This record gives sequence, C-alpha cells and structure tokens, in this order.
Amino acid sequence: MKRKESGYNYGECEICNNHTQEKLVKQDFWIRGGLVVVEDVPAGVCPQCGEKVVKAEVGQRIAKLIENSERIAKAPRIFVAAIKFEILI
Ligand SMILES: [Zn+2]
Repeated sequence: MKRKESGYNYGECEICNNHTQEKLVKQDFWIRGGLVVVEDVPAGVCPQCGEKVVKAEVGQRIAKLIENSERIAKAPRIFVAAIKFEILI
C-alpha cells in the first residue's frame, strides 16, 4: 500500500459543515503538569471555525510521541505566556 500524506479527505467540519483543508498544525498536550507542543501534525482544518481533525493513525503516532519521556526531555524549549483569569467588573 502506498503512503499518501496529502490529499486525504478529512470531510466536513463537525461544527459548521465547511470543507476542511489539510494543514500542518501544532497540537498542545499537558503531560504530568508540563505543556508539550507537537509540531507539524497533519490535520484537516476548518477555514471557518478552526476546528481540527486528525486521522486515527496520526492520533496514535502522537500518543506514541508524547509517551516518550526521553524525547520530551531532549526537545527544544519554547516560552509561553501564562496569564491569570480575572473577572472584569
Ligand atoms: Zn468549522
């Protein structure tokens, strides 16, 4: 079987029924209190609402990646903003 990364039909967005387009996206996961970002994930993205859909095999691959604590330990670090939620009066 030939591997084909692009051209996969992700179908319609579950939220607004727009046709999704394949893009490489970032996905973030909280693992044991730490934020891990997985980059270049092939996903179907809705141009209207931004909803993302990934293939089952991609989801499984991500699950494998993020359970590899050695890989996470060696990964480059990025800085992220952390702001507190405040109720405006
Ligand atoms: Zn949508």
